Amino acid sequence: MTQRLTMALPSKGRLREPSWALLEATGVEPLAPGERVLQSTCRNADIDLLFLRADDVPEYVQDGVVDCGITGLDLVQEHNFDVDVLLELGYGRCSLQAAVSLEDTATTLADLNGRRIATSHPNLTKRLLEAQGITASIVRISGSVEIAPRLGLADAIVDLVSTGSTLRTNGLRSLGVLFESQAVLVGRRGAEASESREVLTTLLGSVLRARSSRYLLMNVRTSELDAVLAVLPAAGSPTIVPLATEGLVAIHALVPASDVWSLLPKLQACGATAILTLPVERLLS
Ligand code: AMP
Repeated sequence: MTQRLTMALPSKGRLREPSWALLEATGVEPLAPGERVLQSTCRNADIDLLFLRADDVPEYVQDGVVDCGITGLDLVQEHNFDVDVLLELGYGRCSLQAAVSLEDTATTLADLNGRRIATSHPNLTKRLLEAQGITASIVRISGSVEIAPRLGLADAIVDLVSTGSTLRTNGLRSLGVLFESQAVLVGRRGAEASESREVLTTLLGSVLRARSSRYLLMNVRTSELDAVLAVLPAAGSPTIVPLATEGLVAIHALVPASDVWSLLPKLQACGATAILTLPVERLLS
């Protein structure tokens, strides 16, 4: 990287650990900040790190205080921050859902028309409901949104849900999903992307692609080669290497991690032996 880059990382909460792990996985060696220290740097790259609450990251990026940062897409959308989403990071996945108590008569989102909705995402909720022709009275709440109906503060809630267990525990029933969120890397809009920001974005993307891939190696008799190749996913061309033993080759292939469990028995049935799967560190294409 040719010039110093400033990056904001979530200092606490759900996005903190996976964001740190992702940055480390690129190989840039971030230095852990001391307790209550908000800034750090990287041992082997010209990157300065600023640790902020995930909610504050988009504003710092928008205002040009930092070049890029990691936050939740819901937080970017809530205040319509003027930033570019450079990369979807695949963790921190959750959805903004509308829910009512089990005994409520509402069955669809449309049934929320004219009712009171408690949420910590008031702007996004209003926008998304209005886009569906639903007008509701929004009650802004900053935490524990799920108890609002029980306290009589609202008829329904709109809140982030990942497993749905908080809704169930609080006797709530989902009426539907308004918005899907995940952690994202954001950069200042319109700012001429610096070379260093592009390099970092590419490196982070290479880790994400690597995580969803596996390197597969196996030995195959040449007489069984066609059958084995027919089983391998079509994308990418496998490497075929002759082995010392006549009539035997090794096949190397990059395959989607999610396919591995179903591929292995098929490859074995086709005659492949010594089948290995290896994790991939980084994948640039
Ligand atoms: P924090 O409040 O710092 O833990 O982070 C909140 C961010 O984590 C949210 O803005 C979402 O982007 C993300 N997130 C992922 N799953 C959930 C969830 N089940 N509840 C709240 N936030 C979630």
